[in-house]
Amino acid sequence: MNVYDSDRVRTALIRRGWLEASEDDAEIVVFTGCSVRGHAERKVWSELGRYEPGWRKNKRPYVALTGCIAQSLGDKVFARYPWVRLISGPRHIGLLPDALTRVMENGSRVNLLDEDPSEFCDLDEYSQARGNVYRAYVTIAHGCDNFCSYCIVPYVRGRFISRRPESILNEITSLVKSGAKEITLLGQNVNSYGSDFQKHAPDLADYDFATLLRAVARAEGVELVRFVTSLPQDFTEKIVDVMVSEPNVAPSLNLPIQSGSDRILKLMNRKYTRQDYIEKVRMIRSRIPDIGLASDLIVGFPGETEQDFEDSMSVLSELRFDLLHSAAYSERAGTPASAMPGALPQDTRMERLNRVNALQDSITLSINQSLVGRRYRLLVDSSNGRLLQGRTPTDKVTLLENSSEDAGIIGQFVDVEITEGKSWCLKGRVINVKEEART
Ligand code: SF4
Repeated sequence: MNVYDSDRVRTALIRRGWLEASEDDAEIVVFTGCSVRGHAERKVWSELGRYEPGWRKNKRPYVALTGCIAQSLGDKVFARYPWVRLISGPRHIGLLPDALTRVMENGSRVNLLDEDPSEFCDLDEYSQARGNVYRAYVTIAHGCDNFCSYCIVPYVRGRFISRRPESILNEITSLVKSGAKEITLLGQNVNSYGSDFQKHAPDLADYDFATLLRAVARAEGVELVRFVTSLPQDFTEKIVDVMVSEPNVAPSLNLPIQSGSDRILKLMNRKYTRQDYIEKVRMIRSRIPDIGLASDLIVGFPGETEQDFEDSMSVLSELRFDLLHSAAYSERAGTPASAMPGALPQDTRMERLNRVNALQDSITLSINQSLVGRRYRLLVDSSNGRLLQGRTPTDKVTLLENSSEDAGIIGQFVDVEITEGKSWCLKGRVINVKEEART
């Protein structure tokens, strides 16, 4: 989401005649940051501190802090760092280009923190100037109303609001015209897309995520569609129907479980049980056997016992995710979990994280090794400097071993055979470049 927001702000500024500059030459540096984990917050404080010498010498560069990290830190950033001239919450993104211009004109300080969590001022801009030409993100809904007890998102990104489908589809048309072939739909919980239409867009009362996904898959020029993130209780069989029937919807899914213990899931205010989750995965795998399934897991939640933790370990062994985004619980001020009793020492959290990672690495490695010899059609979207790379439809990073002679295939879909499975990626070789890649 931050990449997407940054790309749109960059596009809007370039359209107004601004130039992107190296940090040494920049007159203003715009940060967009995430506040979901404490680590990110500490990093932002230290990043902002780096501008002190330049400020002392030349009163430049100005610094702007945007995104949910700005909303989370609030105006104490102004008090600490005089070179920060603008802070803006994510729901004021539409005002940023004018506000940044104002800062540059007279050095004034601008505070665009979000005061009303239901208000949203969007930026009418698509991400033309984006990091990757061939892959593009599109936010379909803002904010979140789920209030999981550990999560800061509902406080810093505000109430859930779905974008109208025609606005999303128009944006996708622009993205395709500017070279995008793969579209990733974004939301804190994409599955609840449209659940708010009844309230503020009654003409769309029956429009849901499955309907949108099908419309995006059928939009002209869209070759592959992904979406993230899905909340288990809202992920429906109707969405699976679309994944099965629309060939360009990627067979991959991020379905965060967060814990394998019912007691902890309840404390987390997740509205499903371990068994609900397992049954949902069975339903999905029965319809899409080769699905690439990723999940998120938090260890060391307040009050997590060794048994609760073992329940998380056992669910990993039972479900064998392709990929796991694991994290040690990190207190976020203002969330209910941060005031819960039973906070675990950091070394216990880290020790559990290490055990989870070791288990998951072995699972991922054995799954990836079993894929040797399989063939996938994938978009070659970038180079890591030495090797070209892409992602399988199941969302596994794949490095292409014989790609040096095929540098011209960046931006093309090619057929690839997997030659090696590692715990963090696959290696493969191009076996056939589609006709159009050569013309
Ligand atoms: S659904 Fe996701 S974004 Fe929303 S509160 Fe829960 S963890 Fe946070």
